Amino acid sequence: MKVFICASEIVPFAKTGGLADVAGALPLVLEKHGIEVRIALPKYKIVKPPLDFAQGRQSHQPAGSGLASDSQSQKAASVKDDIEVSKIGKNVRVYLIKNAQYFDRDGLYGDKAGDYADNLERFSFYCRRSLDLLKEINFKPDIIHCHDWQTALIPVYLKTLYRKDNFYKDIKTLLTIHNLSFQGVFAKDEFPKLGLDWPLFNIDGLEFYHKVNILKGGVIFSDLLNTVSPTYAGEIQTKESGCGLEGVLSKRKKGLSGILNGLDYGLWDPEKDTHIYKPYSASALRDKYVNKKMLQEECRLSVQEEIPLFGMVSRLSQQKGLDLIAQSMEDLLGHCKMQIIVLGVGDARYHQLLSGLAQKYPANVSAQIKFDEGLAHKIYAGADIFLMPSRFEPCGLGQMIALRYGTLPLVFKTGGLADTVSQVNGFVFKEYTKEAFVRTVESAISAYRSKRKWMALVKKAFTYNFSWEKSAGEYIKLYQKLS
Ligand code: ADP
Repeated sequence: MKVFICASEIVPFAKTGGLADVAGALPLVLEKHGIEVRIALPKYKIVKPPLDFAQGRQSHQPAGSGLASDSQSQKAASVKDDIEVSKIGKNVRVYLIKNAQYFDRDGLYGDKAGDYADNLERFSFYCRRSLDLLKEINFKPDIIHCHDWQTALIPVYLKTLYRKDNFYKDIKTLLTIHNLSFQGVFAKDEFPKLGLDWPLFNIDGLEFYHKVNILKGGVIFSDLLNTVSPTYAGEIQTKESGCGLEGVLSKRKKGLSGILNGLDYGLWDPEKDTHIYKPYSASALRDKYVNKKMLQEECRLSVQEEIPLFGMVSRLSQQKGLDLIAQSMEDLLGHCKMQIIVLGVGDARYHQLLSGLAQKYPANVSAQIKFDEGLAHKIYAGADIFLMPSRFEPCGLGQMIALRYGTLPLVFKTGGLADTVSQVNGFVFKEYTKEAFVRTVESAISAYRSKRKWMALVKKAFTYNFSWEKSAGEYIKLYQKLS
């Protein structure tokens, strides 16, 4: 079976969130199952030739290096000048699409001022270039696996602009929705830039309240749909969580499933992690506390083992529960002995809030306003409790990474968090209110005080397995259904 994966961010090339983790890990497992996988990704400015790309798992070749015409692809043509070929896993080829006008910028989707104004053009270009590439390299996949709105035009184009081309006949599409709140919505007057006929701009097509909605196009035109947890698959068909697309999604109910994301257990492994201060395992828990101590030092908190250390690694947005943090942190810090380190970037108002708290409580609060892969690993390892009070969460990787590192997650019962965390392996609140959140933080703090019970909980955390094996099997079943 041949699968072509299209995603706007992929580890180890470019990452702003969980999509990149997923799009980077899934191909590696699929390859192990004998599936021939290839990938296309925009070559953003941050995509550099590899220096230390994850544990020697990647190499990178400029166009014409020969990589594109090795034995597996038999008569594969070499790629054009605007394509660079790289590799992950054993032989998963990654085609990096260059375009100075669209991709040679500091951000993936935007900058401080907000989203780039030409995102519709940038990603429609990426979709069409990816499709054309298939023909150029003579790779006809059984399935194109698309991820999120940036790739959602692929199913649309296949069934319109490319419909009459025999090469694309029989190629099926699967669209995975990682977060329904990002839909790629643009003004109506941008529609002609898509190269589609105007009749497609209607209520049964890409129109959405007089605007263009790219994700909606993907939902309608893809052959199958899935999202990243069973609970979220149900939630997005409701008015409360459907972000306006609940009707279209409900219509496609039969072709819509929920598959929990997995974790790349090679990258996230407390026993082998080179980012953390000292590797550890469930049977050498003393070393987890070495990580805690060093983290407290690095973040300039007071170094005390008996104070529970909360960690948060997150986009700083309302979705991630930052409104609850804003409402309750001052109160909590006033009456509880606790420390918190927050690593993240996002809304300026949360940058200010967290920096203000860190200034006021320097021994107990650390605000790390940046994107820092290494520090993220250190927080997963060194914290006692991982905070993830997301208002909604399609799947969430943070809570799974935390469990892998023996750090107990504290979550709101929603989406993928509800599918992975319960009272048995963490702390869960069921009403999205300040009161319920504060009560749950307090109960985590009091659980931490009981050393023996806490150790038992931590040991239990290590017994959960969120590796890709099971989820990859479910994706393969979906592919088989399509091919
Ligand atoms: P999202 O909705 O952002 O995709 P997920 O929980 O699915 O949320 O995935 C977030 C991923 O991004 C995790 O791997 C997390 O560790 C990482 N991450 C988020 N913010 C940062 C940051 N500031 N620095 C480093 N890693 C981050």
